[in-house]
Amino acid sequence: MQVRMADLGSQYRRIRDELEPMLLEVLASGRYILGEHVQALEDEVAQACNARFAVGVSSGTDALKLTLRAVGIQPGDEVITTPFTFVSTTEVIVQLGATPVFVDIEPETYNLDPNLVEAAITPRTRAILPVSLYGQSAEMRALRQIADRYGLWLIEDAAQAIGARHYEEPIGAFAHAATLSFFPTKNLGAAGDAGMVITNDEQIARKVRSLRVHGMNSAYYYEDIGYTARLDEIQAVILRVKMRHLREWTERRRYHATLYRTLLADAPVQLPCARPYNYHVYHQFTVRVACRDELRTHLMQRGVESAVYYPLPLHLQPAYRFLGYSVGDFPCAERAASEVLSLPIHSELTEDQIALVAQSIWEFTQQEALAV
Ligand SMILES: *Cc1c(COP(=O)(O)O)cnc(C)c1O
Repeated sequence: MQVRMADLGSQYRRIRDELEPMLLEVLASGRYILGEHVQALEDEVAQACNARFAVGVSSGTDALKLTLRAVGIQPGDEVITTPFTFVSTTEVIVQLGATPVFVDIEPETYNLDPNLVEAAITPRTRAILPVSLYGQSAEMRALRQIADRYGLWLIEDAAQAIGARHYEEPIGAFAHAATLSFFPTKNLGAAGDAGMVITNDEQIARKVRSLRVHGMNSAYYYEDIGYTARLDEIQAVILRVKMRHLREWTERRRYHATLYRTLLADAPVQLPCARPYNYHVYHQFTVRVACRDELRTHLMQRGVESAVYYPLPLHLQPAYRFLGYSVGDFPCAERAASEVLSLPIHSELTEDQIALVAQSIWEFTQQEALAV
C-alpha cells in the first residue's frame, strides 16, 4: 500500500462527469479570460466567505502582491510578517520595495505570535501580514485590535485556509483583505495557477480589479502601472465544480485528523494544536518530533509519503540574507523548522491508509525507544 501526500488524479476521476461537459463548453465558447465563470466563482467565494467582494487573480502570490499594492505599500514601508511560511508572503513585500519585518511564531500553532507584534512596530510600519498556516486561522481577532490601535492594514494570507473559521467567522472577517491560493494541492485547487482576493473594502476590490489588467480602469485608459494577473475561465469553471464538494472534502480532512488523534494519542509525537475557537481545515496535519528526518525516511520505506513545511525559515534563506537576520533571531520558527512533519491528510485517503501511517509511526518510535 502506498500513501501519498496528494491524490489529485483520484479526485479528478470522481468529479469527471460533472466537470468535463462544463470544461468543453468553455473551450467551445471562445471566451477564455475573465468571463462568466470567473464572475460566478467570485460571487460564490464571496458568499462562502461572507465577504462583499472577491476578485479572481492568477495565483495566490499575485493575490498578495496586488493586495499590498492596493493598500499602498511602497518603497520604504515596513510590513510585519512571519518567517515560518511559504516564500510568497515575504517575496511580494520585497518585490514592492518594502521591508519585511519578521516576528516569531507561537510554538503551538506555528502562526504569528500577536504578543510579539507591538514591539516590532515602528513609524514606518504600514501593515501586518499574518499567515493562517496549515489550515488554522492566525490570531486574527487579537491582531486586528493591534492594527486598529496603530492605524495599520491587516492582510491575511489565507492561501492554506479556505473554509476555516475563527470565533465562528470565516477567513478574512477580521482583516482588511484576505488572499487565497488555488494551487492544485491546496484544499480547493485548480488545474494550474489561480488565486483570489476577498475583502469588504470597496476601494481595495476596485484597485485589485484594475491592477490585475495592467492598471486599466476603462478600455485602454490606465490609472496605475499594473500587471497581467487575471484568472482564466478554464480554471474558474474547474474551481466552481470543486467548490460544490469543498465542504465534504474539508469534513473528510477533519475526520482523518480525528483518526490520527485517536491512533496516535499516546505516541511520543506532538499532535497539532487546534484552538477551541478555531475551525481547522487541515490543509496539513503537522506533527512535531525530535528525530524528524529519520522518521521521514522510515515512513518512506513503508510506502508513506510525508513532507516538511518548511525546512528553513525565511530569515535564514540565502535570498533574504540581505535583511540582516541571523540564527537565533526567531527561536520558535527555527525549532519548528527542524521538527515539523506533515502527514498525508487529503480527502481521498482511506481509513486503512491512515492506520498504516499511524502504525508506521508507532514502529519507528518503538525502535527509537530501544535504541536509547
Ligand atoms: C500556496 C501559498 C502561497 C502562494 O500561492 P500560489 O498560488 O502558489 O502563488 C502563498 N502563501 C502561502 C502560505 C501558501 O501556502
